[in-house]
Amino acid sequence: METTLKKQGMYENVMRQFNRAADTLKLDEGIRKILASTNSEIVVHFPVKMDDGRIEVFNGYRVQHNNALGPYKGGLRFHPTVDIDAARALAIWMTWKTALAGLPYGGGKGGVSIDPSKYSLAELERITRRFTFSLGENIGPDVDIPAPDVNTNPQIMAWIADTFASTKSPSTRMVNMHVVTGKPVGSGGLEGRDRATGFGVVATIKQWAKKENIDLKGKRYIVQGFGNVGYWASHFLSHLGAILIAVQDETGTYYNHEGINPEDLLAYSSKHRGKVAGYGNATEIPAEDFFGLECDILIPAALGSQITLDNVHQIKAQLIAEGANGPTNIDAEEVLLSRGVRIIPDILCNAGGVIGSYFEWLQNKRSENWKIEEVLEKIEDKLALSFQKTIDTADEFQTDWRTGAYMVALKRIEQTYKERGVFP
Ligand code: GLU
Repeated sequence: METTLKKQGMYENVMRQFNRAADTLKLDEGIRKILASTNSEIVVHFPVKMDDGRIEVFNGYRVQHNNALGPYKGGLRFHPTVDIDAARALAIWMTWKTALAGLPYGGGKGGVSIDPSKYSLAELERITRRFTFSLGENIGPDVDIPAPDVNTNPQIMAWIADTFASTKSPSTRMVNMHVVTGKPVGSGGLEGRDRATGFGVVATIKQWAKKENIDLKGKRYIVQGFGNVGYWASHFLSHLGAILIAVQDETGTYYNHEGINPEDLLAYSSKHRGKVAGYGNATEIPAEDFFGLECDILIPAALGSQITLDNVHQIKAQLIAEGANGPTNIDAEEVLLSRGVRIIPDILCNAGGVIGSYFEWLQNKRSENWKIEEVLEKIEDKLALSFQKTIDTADEFQTDWRTGAYMVALKRIEQTYKERGVFP
């Protein structure tokens, strides 16, 4: 898997997707101009003391694309590919994702350009806290609410919440702890937020199967990325009787014709810094053979721009369920669509995570504690509704599902602007 590329082309990709949908929708020209640019882009350079006493300076980003529907919302990732273009593209996808899901949020995204595996836990804590401090008033429970993303987790969210709240007046501490979602359950987190994205990926696959009258039992699937999304999607899909036959991450590609048990692979990867390299109950195959494996469903759940013109011709799956953000380049998508391959677009497929985040935010605001069963049921209901709206719009305009999903999102934002006008 390509992880060294600095320029993944995600920004160009998201803008081409947007323009395609805006053309089909005949989006108002003024609103199109507003949505084609980001509201604000925050770049911070902050120093952190390393364990050996040296000082390192890190680059952090937060891009706030649009907040017509509510506070900016979206994750923070810790990865070497994080730069201003990546943060921009990912923030824009969040705007469409939250609008499509009917949430009272806009879109934001950011992170730090680092390889977290190179730092100790204590260093990561200091990096996180100093990054939060540098973002200052640009984030807040009703301003911009970060969440986990690639290589960030509930522990990191807890450090952000604690730092943010500790640098404000003590009387506002509890409210300020709600600056992030995806917190550990003991710190105001939501039961089920951990699995929300992967659960949602499978909920949308179930909708597809229902629509196409397909039985998921015995269907063979492959997963790229075995982080939070890849694992939980595999967990839920294998529970439905589908068979995981290959997993790929940046450390290796593992294949087993008889099937890989996601729980067994998790037990292994948890002991190896979350990576699959060296897994014994499958055969290692060359990375470039992954997309060409004979299977029914492909779940990209790693980084953006993975399915490109270079590998699209290998793909055998009839369904691509985008657990990652922006995994399919638009040129590759055209090839897939012309071959009749279905794509459940990222802004629909992986929206379970941000829907879970919304429930966490509501739970915090109302000082409530929701049960996991209730949370998962509500996520599934919301996704079923978004799925239906997406395919209805795609049918109405004779277009693909991604464009349909964009149109639902864009219509909602357009309506808001039309009702409120543009200040002054
Ligand atoms: N990082 C996740 C995403 O890309 C979750 C965002 C959130 O919960 O705010 O959708």
